[in-house]
Amino acid sequence: MMRSKGSRLREFLGRLDYGGTFDLLQGKSLTVLCYHRIGAPDNRFHGFRPNFSASPRQFTLQMRFLRKFFSPVSLQDVLNWFETGRPLPRRAVLVTFDDGYRDNGDVAWPIMRSLQIPGVIFLATDHIGTNKPFLWDYAAYCFEVTKQKRAVLPLLGEMDLETSSCRYRAASAWVEASKRLPAGNRRLLLDALAVTLRVSPPPQAFADLQLDWPTVRRLKEEGLEFGGHTHTHPILTQLALPEARHEIITSQQVLCAQLGMPARAFAYPNGSAADFFAGHEDAIREAGFSIGFSLEHGPAKLDEIRQRPTAIRRLYVGRRDTIPRLFLKCLGAARVASGSGRGRQFISAARESSKQSESKAC
Ligand SMILES: [Zn+2]
Repeated sequence: MMRSKGSRLREFLGRLDYGGTFDLLQGKSLTVLCYHRIGAPDNRFHGFRPNFSASPRQFTLQMRFLRKFFSPVSLQDVLNWFETGRPLPRRAVLVTFDDGYRDNGDVAWPIMRSLQIPGVIFLATDHIGTNKPFLWDYAAYCFEVTKQKRAVLPLLGEMDLETSSCRYRAASAWVEASKRLPAGNRRLLLDALAVTLRVSPPPQAFADLQLDWPTVRRLKEEGLEFGGHTHTHPILTQLALPEARHEIITSQQVLCAQLGMPARAFAYPNGSAADFFAGHEDAIREAGFSIGFSLEHGPAKLDEIRQRPTAIRRLYVGRRDTIPRLFLKCLGAARVASGSGRGRQFISAARESSKQSESKAC
């Protein structure tokens, strides 16, 4: 019986010496994973579904995989290496979360703690302890509860909204199309979307999606670390530089006031190379952040981090990431696929694993 390319690849990966292969291909590097939300949403509204990076079961398997084959490190370990030269362990991996969702503390952190895996959450400070929804969660609510079967939507034109999967696709397409618009236009478009879909989202629909400050302080006491992710989560290149600086500085001021000390690390919203530039890297240093994280495909070579500590590469983790796919990402498969590289099978696997980034939200 002919076996598919996918099953041959899975068999190959199942027999692979993960640690040895990583050492051979990646050597002196830091693997930084970027998650958003951990959970298994049911039929009720839980926010924008593509933001769920893994179910609790998937996440547990991934953390066990890291514990077995990698060396989980804390943000402080990375800062110690950067500032004092204290060596990082072989196969160092740092687990990070963007945005500040409540499930990071309720679901992910207990799993990580049980395996003694440190972590960092990058907070969009204006959303912590409020019912203020992110754009994508507000839009997702409108799409999930609308009774409209078809609608002519701002940005997308006429869309079929008959089934929940149609509405899911429409919500994903709308969020993708809107996220690089200037902030003022996005607000107007969100209002237009709600009117078009004949939905009036009540503020309590978004209660408890985000962490609150007492919980952040408790998690910090328990060992989680926190960093900045702007105040209101704009894509920085959509703002004039003074406004972008204000976003960065405000997030640091709020973190400092709430946690009693300045945060040391920052993650750029959306995080691709098009979403920040040198002026923003200067601004995060001026605001007191020592290092910054992008969402350019990692892992990051230690030499690269030394040269440009304000743009450390990360690996975006998404719902389709089985352990073999995650391992390919850790090997730099997506980075190879987006740049140059050799080896046909590796490239095709790399392209497959890099597709994960298509559905990322922020
Ligand atoms: Zn974000």
